[in-house]
Amino acid sequence: MARDFRNRPPPPPDAAARRAAPPVVCYPVAGLPPVDPGFCAAVADGAAVVETVIVPPRDGRAFRVPAGHLFRIRCVQGPQVGDLNLWHAQDLTERFYSGKTRQLQASHLTTGDRLWSSLPHLRPLATIVADSLGWYGWDDDGAGVHDVIGTRCDPHTNRLLTGADYHHCCHANLTRALAAATGLPLAEAEAHVHDVMNVFMCTGFTRDSHQYFMKASPVRPGDAITFLAEIDLLGALSACPGGDCGSGHSDDRAACFPLQVEILRPRPEALQGWVPAEPSTYSAPARLEV
Ligand SMILES: [Zn+2]
Repeated sequence: MARDFRNRPPPPPDAAARRAAPPVVCYPVAGLPPVDPGFCAAVADGAAVVETVIVPPRDGRAFRVPAGHLFRIRCVQGPQVGDLNLWHAQDLTERFYSGKTRQLQASHLTTGDRLWSSLPHLRPLATIVADSLGWYGWDDDGAGVHDVIGTRCDPHTNRLLTGADYHHCCHANLTRALAAATGLPLAEAEAHVHDVMNVFMCTGFTRDSHQYFMKASPVRPGDAITFLAEIDLLGALSACPGGDCGSGHSDDRAACFPLQVEILRPRPEALQGWVPAEPSTYSAPARLEV
């Protein structure tokens, strides 16, 4: 598994001093409006389920969530990883920005973390208000759950690495789900599919070579993660062909299970003080001409 570092140059005499520079968090977020733990804990109390979508194994489904509604992804029947895409319901060019979310929040998400949208919008699309796997933290391999590191399994990479074609990778499942929800041709829909949040997936980087790894998800039937839609959302979820992602993906070998998506309407009192997220106030067209 380890990469070959034999051609590394020898370290300079002051290598230890250079390596001892203190880490500085790239994006200080103390100035952002805080997410209120009390709000997260209470917003789903008494919420009414208005729609339930079942995502079949090795397949994808889209769903719509009005601003101020919740969506809950639930493990049913057996351990299963889900690949999540989010778009502004009326503008597919505004979509989940995995990389910036990773920088503003962390490599793995949990309650209180926000899922940010692409530039020039850069606003929270959704906030995680509950996560039954929040206990997991970091394990002895340095792994955590719900990463925003991985991209999604896709048939192009699979062909590159194996020479084989497989048509139920998450990328393809998300493409078909988006096409079905919007009426877009598949080729157009494919261009809107983007890097995901890996719901329930357990991942990290190997200690020796910092390569992305996965291990069997700790998710069990009944576990769930709940999001508040900060604007009107179109979502798509793929039940990854990797199942619990404890062995492989991009083929039919792993045991796979459905995932359930519930759309919930909170009680009006539970949303007191909440307002939909506004896009970035940076006036891009004018300032970019400077
Ligand atoms: Zn996948």
